[in-house]
Amino acid sequence: MQLYNTLSAKEREALIEEAGKDRLTISFYKYAHIGNPQILRNHLFLAWNDMEVLGRIYVAREGINAQLSVPADNFNVFKEHLDSISFLENVRLNIAIEQDNKSFLKLKVKVRKKIVADGLNDDTFDVTNKGIHVGAEQFNELIEDENTVLVDMRNHYESEIGHFKNAVTPDVDTFRDSLDIIEQDLAEHKEDKKLVMYCTGGIRCEKASAYYKHKGFKNVYQLEGGIIEYTRQVREKQLENKFLGKNFVFDHRRGERISEEVIAHCHQCGKPCDTHVNCANEACHLLFIQCEECAEKMNNCCSVDCMEVHALPYEEQKRLRKGKGASNKIFKKGRSPVLKYKK
Ligand SMILES: [Zn+2]
Ligand SMILES: [Zn+2]
Repeated sequence: MQLYNTLSAKEREALIEEAGKDRLTISFYKYAHIGNPQILRNHLFLAWNDMEVLGRIYVAREGINAQLSVPADNFNVFKEHLDSISFLENVRLNIAIEQDNKSFLKLKVKVRKKIVADGLNDDTFDVTNKGIHVGAEQFNELIEDENTVLVDMRNHYESEIGHFKNAVTPDVDTFRDSLDIIEQDLAEHKEDKKLVMYCTGGIRCEKASAYYKHKGFKNVYQLEGGIIEYTRQVREKQLENKFLGKNFVFDHRRGERISEEVIAHCHQCGKPCDTHVNCANEACHLLFIQCEECAEKMNNCCSVDCMEVHALPYEEQKRLRKGKGASNKIFKKGRSPVLKYKK
């Protein structure tokens, strides 16, 4: 019985091309009480591997968080399988706006302590006592209300390329940090202001809203299904779109364009640009915004140092990397002193 992915990304890419099938990129999450996450994990891996599902899925005692792609032909089978699992029956699936057959190249189902690394001690508050869920139409009205404070619950590199008009976008690296900042900033307004929050797909607000209610906020709202579902509703019901720029996504696509405005800047030359890349030096892999001209000039690297390493023979690069540990732990995501135009 094969319980783990055995193909490399390159081999998988070739297979996807060869198959020539359209794939759907989907995400969903559900908080639930899961007795044995490992059993669920194996069950999902076996079933989904057969359906040629690819993606990154976290299973924990508190629930599941999945980002994946499935061949369009297998979508019905996939959906039926989800519905056969009691706590996932009719779970809301967020279907990506821009499709990319190579959004994911491996199937990874991992057992984690939590489905989002939120840094919260859940024992101290009731996570099911969440805020009021609102759809796109009501959200649009709410955020025009002068008593509303609209907060982006994502990290700095996400809100940098796209966010709602007039949203507060905390300059934070973690979800935990933004919870504290917002609480401090709004300490005087726990009762009179409406706290409206949003994130990519809703999962982070689900916890944040419960947390703020626990902290004494009286009027807490969250955008149901996050930016992804908002955009779907806006397009379907032809509502006014109040989201500017791109929605950052956690797969190979990095972002999907929601409106034509480009609100970010190339971190190397400062010109308008909202394309995230990872530094081509594998030992660095820094996530940053780079325009096409800088990409060419810098050979897809974030710095001259990285360019030099990247130019070395691969074996030499590997030798240099040895014993240095994972690159994304060396650098904070999206921040580095070499990036002149990063705020
Ligand atoms: Zn540039
Ligand atoms: Zn670099």
